[in-house]
Amino acid sequence: MRLSRYFLPTLRETPKEAEIVSHRLMLRAGLIRQEAAGIYAWLPLGLRVLERVCAIVREEQNRSGAIEILMPTIQSADLWRESGRYEAYGKEMLRIKDRHDRDILYGPTAEEVVTEIFRASARSYKDLPKNLYQISWKFRDEVRPRFGTMRSREFLMKDAYSFDLDQAGARHAYNKMFVAYLRTFAAMGLRAIPMRADTGPIGGDLSHEFIILAQTGESEVFCDRAYLDFEIPAVNVDFDDVAGLQGTVDAWTSHYAATDEMHDASVFAEVPEEARMSARGIEVGHIFYFGTKYSEPMKAVVTGPDGKEQPVHMGSYGIGPSRLVPAIIEASHDEAGIIWPDSVAPFDVALINLKVGDAAVDAACAEIEGDLQAAGISLLYDDRDDRPGAKFATADLIGLPWQVIVGPKSLADGKVELKRRATGERELIAPVDLVSRLK
Ligand code: ATP
Ligand code: MG
Ligand code: MG
Ligand code: MG
Repeated sequence: MRLSRYFLPTLRETPKEAEIVSHRLMLRAGLIRQEAAGIYAWLPLGLRVLERVCAIVREEQNRSGAIEILMPTIQSADLWRESGRYEAYGKEMLRIKDRHDRDILYGPTAEEVVTEIFRASARSYKDLPKNLYQISWKFRDEVRPRFGTMRSREFLMKDAYSFDLDQAGARHAYNKMFVAYLRTFAAMGLRAIPMRADTGPIGGDLSHEFIILAQTGESEVFCDRAYLDFEIPAVNVDFDDVAGLQGTVDAWTSHYAATDEMHDASVFAEVPEEARMSARGIEVGHIFYFGTKYSEPMKAVVTGPDGKEQPVHMGSYGIGPSRLVPAIIEASHDEAGIIWPDSVAPFDVALINLKVGDAAVDAACAEIEGDLQAAGISLLYDDRDDRPGAKFATADLIGLPWQVIVGPKSLADGKVELKRRATGERELIAPVDLVSRLK
C-alpha cells in the first residue's frame, strides 16, 4: 500500500480529551475517530489491527472446537422476557421501539438468542456438547464511556456459549475456553492472568476474568507474581483430553489472583511477601459457568441417556477485541508512538523513501515493494514528497515492526537501512537480502 493513496489521518497535536496513552496514540496514529460519545469509527489502519486481533481469537476458538455463527445485533425484547432479564438488565441496555410499537433492543450480550437457536434443534444428549460463538458488535449504554475503545458504548465482542448435559461436561467446556484464552492473549504478545471472579447467585468457582496488568487499568487486582512466569499451553494441546486440560486449569488457578470484588486480604497475606503483587488491570476476557439459568426458563432441554428431559448446562465466554487493541498499546509503546507486536501489526514494514523524485531511490523502493509483496510481507510505502524527519515521526508513531529506509547515500553503496521499531536497532543491508531477513 502506498501512503500517498492511503487514508491515514494522523494528528500532530495530542488530543486533549484523551486521558490515557493508548487513547492518545489511537487518535494520533489515525486508528479510530469518535463519532458520538463512546461510539467510534475504525479507520483503515485501526481496522487492520482489529481484524488481526479477531483472526487470532477466531483461530484459537476454532482450535478448541467452538463453531462460529453470527447472530443479529437487534434482538426481540420478548426473548429477554422469557429469561426474566428484560426488566432486570437495567440502563445499560439500549431499548428501541419499532414502527409497530414492538420492543426491540440492541444486544448487550446474546445468551437469550443463542439459547433460542439451540433449543430449536437440539433434542438429545447426542447433540451435545456444543460451543457456538460469534464476533459481533454489542451496545451497552455505559454510564461513563472513556479511554476510547477501551470502554466504549458500541464495542466488538467475541461471545461463545457452551451447551452440555451435566456439570462435569460443562466444566470441560469451561476448561477448553480457559486454555484457548491463555493461548489467545499470549499470541497477541500479552500476559493475561486468570483471576477469580464473582459467580453471582449460582456460586461455585467457575468464573474467571482474564486481566492484563497495566497502570491505567480500571480494576484493582491482587495476585501472585508466579503467574508472570507460567508456561502457555502449546499449539498441539489436546482439547479432548479431559484430565490434561483440568491439570492445566488447576495449575493456572493454584496461586492467588483476584480482582478487588473477590479479594480476601487475609488469604493474600499468606502469599510470600516478595511474590505479592497489587496492581491495576484491564479485563480483556471473562468466562462463566451458569448452569441452567437460561435453559430452565427458556426450556432448552434434551433427553438424557435415561430418556428423561433435562435442561442443558451452559456457560458463556467473552473477549473484547476492540478493548484489546488499546490494551496492546498500553503494554507496548514508547514516547514516539505505538510498537505493534508482529502478530497484530497492521503492516509488517514501513518502507521509507527519503528522496522522492530521485530516480535511483524511487526505483529501489519500487523493487523492494514488489519483492516484499511477492514474499507475502505486507508494507506501507511512504512515497509522499515530505521531509525525512516527518516520515520518521510517522513511522515511529504508527509503530510497524520494521522500517526499511532508502536514501541516496547508503543506496550508492548498494545498501538500505533496516530498523527494528521495538529496539531501535539499525543495520545496513542489501535490498536483495531483505526478504530472507524479514521472513
Ligand atoms: P467491564 O467490567 O469492563 O464493564 P464487563 O464485565 O461488563 O466489563 P463482560 O460482560 O464480562 O464485560 O463482557 C466480556 C468482555 O467484553 C469483557 O471482558 C471486555 O473485554 C469486553 N467489554 C465489556 N464491556 C466493554 C466496553 N464497554 N467496551 C469495550 N469492551 C468491553
Ligand atoms: Mg460492564
Ligand atoms: Mg467486569
Ligand atoms: Mg466481565
